[in-house]
Amino acid sequence: MEMTFSPVLARTEKRPIIIAGPCSAESEEQVLQAARGLAALGKVDLFRAGIWKPRTRPGEFEGVGAIGLPWLKKVKAETGLPVTTEVANTQHVFEALKAGVDVLWIGARTTVNPFSVQEVADALKGVDIPVLIKNPVNPDLKLWIGAIERVYNAGIRRIAAIQRGFSHHGESNYRNIPRWQIAIELKRLFPDLEIIVDNSHICGRRDTLLAVAQKGFDLNFDGLMTEVHPRPDEAWSDAAQQITPEVYGAELYNKLKFRLATTDNQEFHNNIDHLRHEIDEIDDELMNLYARRMKLAEGIGKFKKDNNIAILQTNRWNEILERGLSLGTKKGLSEEFVETTLKAIHQESINHQEKVMQGN
Ligand code: PEP
Ligand code: MN
Repeated sequence: MEMTFSPVLARTEKRPIIIAGPCSAESEEQVLQAARGLAALGKVDLFRAGIWKPRTRPGEFEGVGAIGLPWLKKVKAETGLPVTTEVANTQHVFEALKAGVDVLWIGARTTVNPFSVQEVADALKGVDIPVLIKNPVNPDLKLWIGAIERVYNAGIRRIAAIQRGFSHHGESNYRNIPRWQIAIELKRLFPDLEIIVDNSHICGRRDTLLAVAQKGFDLNFDGLMTEVHPRPDEAWSDAAQQITPEVYGAELYNKLKFRLATTDNQEFHNNIDHLRHEIDEIDDELMNLYARRMKLAEGIGKFKKDNNIAILQTNRWNEILERGLSLGTKKGLSEEFVETTLKAIHQESINHQEKVMQGN
């Protein structure tokens, strides 16, 4: 579906959209302290605080509910910062709109459920308010786009996406694995859709917040959402990833390098055009090599077929992987990259051999 989006916030400067505030609103005093600290930095565009919290397990803090909405009003009155909160059903939308919340966001656990997203979208029909849509917890780009389409179909044009990473099983340095390629593909499909990186929920810890935020800007995404709490260690939700407004300013915001999308500098363009041309040539060469490799695989497939030998030979596959890893890592490629590419190539080889096997 064709969609054209408008910027979520009206701003005069062309710089990233900066969103910060506590994971959850806990008390009027806590919300105001966070907001005052952030407003003092003079860098924040939008203040966030969760009023209704979708928690993984029952019994965890599920947000203060509607009593917290007047606190957000106070934030706005006192600091001038517009405010945003998460909505997941009709009642949330009505309460938030009634309280004058400026921007709504749809959380990762809501984006996964088309019924819930549709309910929120229906409640928004005829309302002109910016909506931020987090990626679903599972790495499914279609589901993310589907949620954006549902909100778009309600007539909302000021939509942005939030990249907050994806759930996983087992060990990881991330709380939610970023899988940047998914957001990159979203940007490719919808170039005017602003994408905001939620480094807090990707990292789940404090020491990696800067690196992940920088990565987002290096990829030319449009903004940053970070959880900031006046007393992070005492936070009622997501304590491990929250930082104080002072740390946010000194250790995160001030250390970020904002990149430009492009420049008028002709020398830069000449140099980059030259390098891109070389890269295109290498990509062409890679395609030719892949095609040659598949031709060889087909030859092997024919051989296996004639001799009634199974396609998958685990020993051989191990050998390929080990050779690749040894050479690749020596050449400065990451293990992850070598493994992923070799797996894809191996799978394509199997597909080609299968075709040969099944043919006459
Ligand atoms: C949040 O922003 O506090 C939150 C609940 O995030 P997510 O929906 O990304 O888990
Ligand atoms: Mn949180």
